[in-house]
Amino acid sequence: MTRSQIIEKLSLSEPVSLKNLYAEANAVKTSTIGNKVYLRGLIEFSNICGKNCYYCGIRRENQALKRYELSDEEVLAAVDFAWKNRYGSVVLQSGEQQSARFTSRITRLLHKIKAYTNNELGITLSCGEQAAAIYREWFTAGAHRYLLRIETSNRELFYKLHPNDDKHSFDARLDAIGQLRAEGYQVGTGVMIGLPFQTVEHLADDLLFFQSMNIDMVGMGPYLEHSQTPLYQHRRHLLPPEKRFELSLKMVATLRLLMPDINIAATTALQVLHPEGREMAVLAGANIIMPNMTLPEHRSYYQIYEHKPDINDDATVSKSKLEQYLRDAGITVGYGEWGDSQHFHHER
Ligand code: SF4
Repeated sequence: MTRSQIIEKLSLSEPVSLKNLYAEANAVKTSTIGNKVYLRGLIEFSNICGKNCYYCGIRRENQALKRYELSDEEVLAAVDFAWKNRYGSVVLQSGEQQSARFTSRITRLLHKIKAYTNNELGITLSCGEQAAAIYREWFTAGAHRYLLRIETSNRELFYKLHPNDDKHSFDARLDAIGQLRAEGYQVGTGVMIGLPFQTVEHLADDLLFFQSMNIDMVGMGPYLEHSQTPLYQHRRHLLPPEKRFELSLKMVATLRLLMPDINIAATTALQVLHPEGREMAVLAGANIIMPNMTLPEHRSYYQIYEHKPDINDDATVSKSKLEQYLRDAGITVGYGEWGDSQHFHHER
């Protein structure tokens, strides 16, 4: 697809055209990688972060937030739930910390999870920018996928979302994505959709960026504001929520047409704007869902955006609600399967 063809798809608004776009993307997914959706149990194990991204509720300078870090036992209890319920994989996600205490703790946890589950659970990490040696250490310890969202591929817009300093460098982000690939990970990135200052051209370029970076997995969803962040002051410039939702579905569908064999997540942010948002994204080309397994007492402290859904649910309730929705939508789950990115294996 050319840039102008992508822009054309992202600009569709007629209900029939949208329906056709989603159906086409879903058909391409089914004929390329099958119709299953794979589950990644999400464990938000720490909200301590050294960064200050302007959109994020757990940014360093949000002093109204209680900070937490799960113990190894709490992480392993969540892992046990995922394993026994045949989720196939877990995602360990946290704010960004680079201390040796933090990085060696992750290494230790990876060894423990692999041993505890007889290497049956796939492990994705989402722990921010780290030195190449740390990425290597974690890969050797058992992580094989890594999520590192760029949030926008446009340098100018990036610096409207982040401070322009050493800790928030666009180039460092790009380098980190390259290092992850060099270390052997399946690499995921993603963007926010419907940001203040963002145009449909930016979004088309984001999709072409994923293609040019040969990305294996993408997680993207609507931008949702958080009142304790600097970006909140620009909320008057936002598209209405239903338009941000529609634009997000169009992004998922168009990306599926552009990169048929990658993994695309139906993100929780979609569920904030529509109770069946994740299932709708699956029917528009997504194939990954990340059910939240964070303990209810910690969920409210891990809100990059506000109004996070199911904040009082535990993993069992989240699971049964999700399974009900998936069943109602006629979506098949690949229980007990890692659901690796086929793009990654094709490329290598
Ligand atoms: S987006 Fe990530 S790195 Fe940025 S402040 Fe939030 S948790 Fe930290």
